[in-house]
Amino acid sequence: MFHTILVAYDGSDHAQHALKTAAGLAKIHGAALHLVHTPQIDSPHIVIGAFISQLEHPPTAEQIEAAGKHITDKAVQEVKAEGVNVSGIHISNDSPAPFILDTAQKTQADLIVLGRRGLGSLTALALGSVSQAVSHGAKCACLTVI
Ligand code: ATP
Ligand code: MG
Repeated sequence: MFHTILVAYDGSDHAQHALKTAAGLAKIHGAALHLVHTPQIDSPHIVIGAFISQLEHPPTAEQIEAAGKHITDKAVQEVKAEGVNVSGIHISNDSPAPFILDTAQKTQADLIVLGRRGLGSLTALALGSVSQAVSHGAKCACLTVI
């Protein structure tokens, strides 16, 4: 029985599967579902899911926040369509893995769900760096989905 599920979302197809899985599990277990996202800045671009927008650099805190909100809004709508409410949205421009692990502790998550891979292009590796680091560091159950 899971009480609090945290899903890490970067806008990739893999994260999309993680989102669906996490929403399904939250429904079955009656668990609270939290969403975590860290917009990745690749100056002078900011990556918001598969969408890249041109920015003057460095991006301001407001631009980072807006980029994060853009992608999490979409995720929240998709979860809602599955009949599940999102209990918390956590956005930061920290490194993804430490922020995911820290948010898991703060929300007392008993399950973290994330994609096996993300937006990265190194398809030779079975696990991306974020899913590896989170699997290593998690103090609770951790599910990586394909
Ligand atoms: P790499 O980033 O190491 O080149 P990758 O992008 O293919 O490889 P990861 O970044 O490890 O793989 O992504 C695996 C999963 O981790 C994603 O499907 C998503 O669930 C989560 N994740 C990755 N980056 C972020 C992020 N910036 N914010 C939230 N979750 C993330
Ligand atoms: Mg990545």
